[in-house]
Amino acid sequence: MSTRRFGARYGATVRKRVEAIEKKKKARYQCPHCKKEGLEWVAFGIWECKNCGFKMGGAAFEPISDTNAKFLSILEQYKKR
Ligand SMILES: [Zn+2]
Repeated sequence: MSTRRFGARYGATVRKRVEAIEKKKKARYQCPHCKKEGLEWVAFGIWECKNCGFKMGGAAFEPISDTNAKFLSILEQYKKR
């Protein structure tokens, strides 16, 4: 009984974590270059846009971390000038 309960709890935690990572990896994100949803996970921390070929570094399993988002918004403002 106790081993089974432990096993189930452990399994669920790991499964949830893996699922969350897999979802983030498989999901497409908006490309900061062409603004289309073509950004795909290529490798650890590397994202590539299937639409325009734009490559960028990001967080391990998400294309844009908070720091990157701030950096990109600064970059956007800079471009507009
Ligand atoms: Zn693109």
